[in-house]
Amino acid sequence: MAGARVAPGSAFRAGPEEEPFLVLRGTMAGSGVAPKATALKHRRTALERVEKFISGTYFLDCNLRGRLFGDACPLESISCCETPHRIPYHVAVKQEFRPIKVGDSFGCTWHTCWFKVELSVPKEWTGKEVHLLWESEGESMVWKNGQPVQGLTTEGEKTSYILTESLKGSDPHSLTLYVEVACNGLFGAGKGSMIAPPDPDRKFSLNKAELVVYNRDVHELLVDFEILLDMAKLLGEENQRSFQALYAANQMVNLCDVTNPQTFPAARELASSLFSQKNGESQHVIHAMGHCHIDSAWLWPYEETIRKCARSWVSVVRLMEKNPEFTFVCSQAQQFEWVKNWYPGLYATIENFVKEGRFVPVGGTWVEMDGNLPSGESMVRQFLQGQRFFQQEFGMLCQEFWLPDTFGYSAQLPQVMRGCGIQRFLTQKLSWNLVNTFPHNTFFWEGIDGSRVLTHFPPADSYGLTGRVEEMLKTMKNNRDKGRVNHSAALFGFGDGGGGPTQEMLDRLSRMKDTDGLPRVRMSVPDRLFSALEEEAAQLCTWVGELFLELHNGTYTTHGQIKKGNRDCERLLHDVEVLSSIAVSRRPSFPYPSAQLQRLWRLLLLNQFHDVLPGSCIQLVAEDAMRYYTALVNVPSLGYCAVQDSLPPARPVMVTREADGSVVMENGLLHARLDAMGRVSSLCLADSKRESIPEGGWANQFVLFDDIPLYWDAWDVMDYHLETRKAITCLLKPLEIAQPGGLRGSVTFSLRIGENSSLLQEVILDSASPCICFRTQVEWKEAHKFLKVEFPVKVRSPHATYEIQFGHLQRPTHWNTSWDWARFEVRRCLSP
Ligand SMILES: [Zn+2]
Repeated sequence: MAGARVAPGSAFRAGPEEEPFLVLRGTMAGSGVAPKATALKHRRTALERVEKFISGTYFLDCNLRGRLFGDACPLESISCCETPHRIPYHVAVKQEFRPIKVGDSFGCTWHTCWFKVELSVPKEWTGKEVHLLWESEGESMVWKNGQPVQGLTTEGEKTSYILTESLKGSDPHSLTLYVEVACNGLFGAGKGSMIAPPDPDRKFSLNKAELVVYNRDVHELLVDFEILLDMAKLLGEENQRSFQALYAANQMVNLCDVTNPQTFPAARELASSLFSQKNGESQHVIHAMGHCHIDSAWLWPYEETIRKCARSWVSVVRLMEKNPEFTFVCSQAQQFEWVKNWYPGLYATIENFVKEGRFVPVGGTWVEMDGNLPSGESMVRQFLQGQRFFQQEFGMLCQEFWLPDTFGYSAQLPQVMRGCGIQRFLTQKLSWNLVNTFPHNTFFWEGIDGSRVLTHFPPADSYGLTGRVEEMLKTMKNNRDKGRVNHSAALFGFGDGGGGPTQEMLDRLSRMKDTDGLPRVRMSVPDRLFSALEEEAAQLCTWVGELFLELHNGTYTTHGQIKKGNRDCERLLHDVEVLSSIAVSRRPSFPYPSAQLQRLWRLLLLNQFHDVLPGSCIQLVAEDAMRYYTALVNVPSLGYCAVQDSLPPARPVMVTREADGSVVMENGLLHARLDAMGRVSSLCLADSKRESIPEGGWANQFVLFDDIPLYWDAWDVMDYHLETRKAITCLLKPLEIAQPGGLRGSVTFSLRIGENSSLLQEVILDSASPCICFRTQVEWKEAHKFLKVEFPVKVRSPHATYEIQFGHLQRPTHWNTSWDWARFEVRRCLSP
C-alpha cells in the first residue's frame, strides 16, 4: 500500500504513478509548517479517526481529549451545612458545618447545601492553569472572600472554577471557598418528566471535587478539531471544503504526539491556515450574541430565579474579563433589579460592562410577559416600568422589544411598541408552530392600526445555541428571506440557570469569523443587527395581524385563578389611579400614591411573566402569584359614600314557569326560555322578536371533552379533543325559580359532571339590563378532562370579532386553509 511507503511525518508528494491518492497541497498549511502525508482516499476511516482522536468516550488513554486535564489532587477538606431556606452568604458561613465527602448525597428538593472547601495548590504546579473541578447535581455558586465568583452547573457545561490561569510562586497556595448548591436542576425537579410536578424527596449528590491542572493548549486544539470535523461532515461530499477540512484534520492527527505538547503548535497552525481562508463578499453574516433566557418563574419559584440570575450573570462577567469581544444580551428589568438588591457587588461589575456596551439590556419591558392576556394598559406599563428602570440605572432606553418565548403575540403589540419608542422586535417562538411554517425570518409586522415594526426571528429557531458549525449552517440555510436580507442573529448560551455561554462556545465562534464555506460569524449586539437589516429593508415583506402560536392553546384556560387575579388587579389599579387623579385635581395637596402604585404595578407586571399568567408553571409558583395578588388588593383606599335606593323599575323582571315545564325570563328588553337543565332554547330581543338561538340548538349547554395532549400536559389542547365531545345532561337538581322578579329575577339548577364533580349555576336577569348573567360554581375533581359551555348563535359570518388590547381583531370561523384550522378553537359550534 502506498501509505505504508510513507514514513510518518515525512514530506511526500504523489507522483503520477500514485494518481489514485489525493494530496493535501501546501496552500492550507502555509509555508514550512507541516510535512504532509498522503491523505488516503477512505473518507469514512479518516472521519472516524479524527472523531476518536477527540472522543470523550473512546481511547481516552491515548487520544487528545484524555490530555485535557493534567495532574489532579484532592481538596484539603470539604464540609457542609444544609438549610431549607435560601440564606445569604454572611448567615451561611456562621452555620455549623459537618464533614462530607465526594460521592455523598445531600438535600431534598428546594433545600440549599452550603459547602466549605479548603484547598491547597501544590507548589510544583507553578506556571500551570489550575481549576477547582466541581461536579454536583443541583445548581452551584462559588463564593470567594464574601463575593459570588462563578456559577457552576453540570447541565450548563460549567464545572470548573479557574483559580489561576498561570500559578505564580508568590500566589497564596491555600484558600477557603464556599460553594452554595441549590437543590434543584436547571429545569426544577419534575418527577419522571421535566414538566411533571416536582419530586419533593429527590436527593442530590456530589460527584467530583478536586484540583486539576488544565491544559489550555489541548482545549484549543480540541476546538480546532471539532470545527474541522463538523465542516467535513456537514458541508457534504459535493463541497470541496468538506474534504479540505477533513484532510487538514487528518493531517493534524499525524502531527500530534499527545504525550508531547511541543507538537501541538504545528497542528494548530494547520487549522488556523484553513480557518483564515476567507469567504467571498456575498457570504451571509451572522450576528452572534451571548444570551441566557431565564424564566422569571416556571418549574421553580421566583426566589430561585434571583439566584439563577446571579449564578448565570457572574459566569458571564468572568467570560467578559477573558474575552474582550464577547457581548451578552439580557432582558427583563425585574431581573436586573433582583441582582441589584441581592448581589450589589456583582451588579456594580455588570454596570461597568453595560457602560462598555458589552452587557446589553434589551427588550424594554419589566418582564418578558405573556403576549396575549395582559390588558392594553398592562402592556404599556410593561414598557413604561422597564424603560424607566433601564433609563434610571443605565441612562439608556432599549431600542428593541425582546420576547423570544411566549405563546403568541397580540396584533396590538406593534402599536404599543411604537408608542413606547420601539421599532424593532425579536422572537423565535413561532418556529414551534405545530401546523404551519411561518414564511419569514425578517419582515415588517403590522398591527391593527397600521403601525409597523421591523421583526426578526433568528433562523436557527432557538435562543440557546452552543456555537456549533451545524447551528451556523442552519442559520444561513433556514433563512426564509434569502435575497432580501443577508444578516441574521444567532443567540447562544444555556438558559434557565445553565449560566449562559461557555468559553468553548466563544472559541468555536472565533474560528468561524470568516472561513470560506461557513457563514461569517461576528460578535454583535441587537442595534448592529437591526441597523444592518434596516439598510436592506427595501425588499422585505409585511405580515399583517397577530402572530398566532399554533401550540400551547391550553394556556388560555390553565390556572384560571391566576388569570382572574390578573384582571381583577388590573381593574383595581385602574380605579385607584383614576380616583387618585380626580382627588389631586380637586385638592392639589392630595398625596398621590406614586411610589406605592409603582410598587404594586411592578408586582402585577411580574405575575404577567410568560409562564405565570399562562399557567404553565408549577403549583408553587401559582401559590406565589396568588399571594402577590392578595398583596395587591391592599391598595390605598379612597373613601366611600352611601348609595341611595333606586326607584322601582319601570319594567320589572318576570320569571314564570310555562305549562311544558320550561321557564321564561323577561324584562321588556330580553325574552329567554330555559329548560329543566338550564339550557337556553330561545333568546330574543323583545322589540325585534329576533331569535338568536339556532333552530333545535341550545345555549348554555355544558360539554365535556377528553384533554390528553401529545406532551405538554395542561399547556396544550389538541385539535382531536373536539372529537370527544359529550353533552352534560345528568341533572342533580332541576331548574327552579330562585327570585321571581322585580329588580332581579333568577333561576338555579345543578348538573353532575362526573363521578365526583358537579356544577351549580344561577342565571340572572336584572331590570333594564340587556344582558343575562350566568354565575357558575364548579366542584372540579376530574383529570384530563376539559369542561366547556356552548353558546351557538343564529348568525352567519365568515369571521368572528374578538376584543384585544385597545382594539379588535377578526378571525375566520371556517377551516378553509391550514392556517384557519390551526386556530381550531375559533370555530363554528358543532352542537347539537
Ligand atoms: Zn421562557
